[in-house]
Amino acid sequence: MPALNFDNLFVRELPADASREPGPRAVEGAFFTPLDPTPVAQANMLAWWPEVASALGLDDADMQHPDMARVLGGSAVLDGMQPYASVYGGHQFGHWAGQLGDGRAIHLGEVIGRDGERWDMQLKGAGPTPYSRGADGRAVLRSSLREFVCSEAMHYLGVPTTRALSLVDTGEHVVRDMFYDGHPKAEPGAVVCRVAPSFVRFGHFELPASRGDIDLLSRLVDVVIGRDFPHIGVSQPHARGDWFAEICQRTARMVAHWMRVGFVHGVMNTDNMSVLGLTIDYGPYGFIDEYDPDFTPNTTDAPSGRYRFSHQPRVAYWNLTRLAGALAPLFGDDVEPLHAGLALYERELAACERAFTAAKLGLTQADEDDMARMQQFKALLARGRMDMTLAFRALASLNPEAPDITIFGNAFYDMAARDAVGTDLQQWLTAYAERVLAQDLPASERRQRMDHANPWMLPRNYLTQQAIEAAELGDLQELQTLMQAVRQPYREQPDQARFAAPRPAWATHRAGCSMLSCSS
Ligand code: AMP
Ligand code: MG
Repeated sequence: MPALNFDNLFVRELPADASREPGPRAVEGAFFTPLDPTPVAQANMLAWWPEVASALGLDDADMQHPDMARVLGGSAVLDGMQPYASVYGGHQFGHWAGQLGDGRAIHLGEVIGRDGERWDMQLKGAGPTPYSRGADGRAVLRSSLREFVCSEAMHYLGVPTTRALSLVDTGEHVVRDMFYDGHPKAEPGAVVCRVAPSFVRFGHFELPASRGDIDLLSRLVDVVIGRDFPHIGVSQPHARGDWFAEICQRTARMVAHWMRVGFVHGVMNTDNMSVLGLTIDYGPYGFIDEYDPDFTPNTTDAPSGRYRFSHQPRVAYWNLTRLAGALAPLFGDDVEPLHAGLALYERELAACERAFTAAKLGLTQADEDDMARMQQFKALLARGRMDMTLAFRALASLNPEAPDITIFGNAFYDMAARDAVGTDLQQWLTAYAERVLAQDLPASERRQRMDHANPWMLPRNYLTQQAIEAAELGDLQELQTLMQAVRQPYREQPDQARFAAPRPAWATHRAGCSMLSCSS
């Protein structure tokens, strides 16, 4: 077996739970419970991302070794690993939920990778922990495959995210009631190994703060600054304020990227917010097909729409205010640095929105008129029920000398809506063409700029669902094809034209293709 280079700083520096009792219980004065993953019946490696393996220092032969499937399925533990489940709290759907924690995720260890960077390895679906709240600690293949594909796709889209190493079939079944309607079904189980420099969430700070355990809170802050934000210098006088500001800035960038590519997280609870501003915990997420600012893929959230697409920037801010509240006791009488951090969030978000508007419209810079132009375009997309990805991508093929809405080709889902919006869309396009001509940017450069901001393809839910259905029948070809395509989402791939098509009609109301439940 390969020798991974472990340096388990979290375990070394922070207090451990004194008990190893597996059942649900409150864990205080500690950040983690040491425990091993629960072995599975038959671990079988379904797929892995060679780029991630290589960053950890693993090659193809390592990944193909039978012991590797056992380790990444949770049936064996390597020398140097110190598995644990961490404890955190969180605000769920706007309400304080108390203690949560890694209910089915188990950390294996922190690896110092090929280029000297730190990668925390975590198995998702690895069995029960004290934080499973009576659930089984397992994950189904469908949700595991979705996280496995989407987290890497997001990376290649340029969106900050946790990464995925492997997808292992457990050879066991997991029972889920997918629609919560009294029809539970046995589904194939799987384990994803995900990796990130850190899996620390806002909720890790909220929990000790909620218990008034300021010493514990303070220790975690210092360890996280030292490990995950080493450039800040933990002992400099403004370290904690600078650190909070950076969390705000990173969160703004992450959300701005979500809005750029049309990603809806679906469950933006504070326990699902990473301090590194990484997209984390892929559950009932979705990409926008027909542009609808109110879209949420999460059936549980559909009634209130708290986490709908257009709300995400505001929700992220609200989540940061929860984190600020948790950290406030560390700032004594001077909470000004926390206010400054929140203000930085607003500024960074606005700056990203402006930069992304310029890039998406192929402009060297976006002024106030261009920001309004973008809003008008989005309103037209909504009215015309147009596909967000296809419509933005089509803009690059505009001939500014002869603007014509035929460039939008197959971006319409509804012909009546297309006809209704046609005149206004043409008017918008004509004004946009004038704007493009007024700037001094060669056509080829404009196109290049746009084609780096407007993806050619995304792993839309229905595409991932097709890979899932094939994989459930033992056919991994569709998964492999999808993995290949998402590696270059901005490059036109003529041999895979179906990946840049609108969502087909059959997928509109089909389970897994548009709406998803949390039952994973
Ligand atoms: P999520 O909405 O997926 O972020 O999960 C919220 C909380 O429920 C977290 O503490 C999870 O660890 C826990 N959880 C979700 N699914 C399971 C499961 N199958 N078994 C144990 N805990 C779970
Ligand atoms: Mg979660």
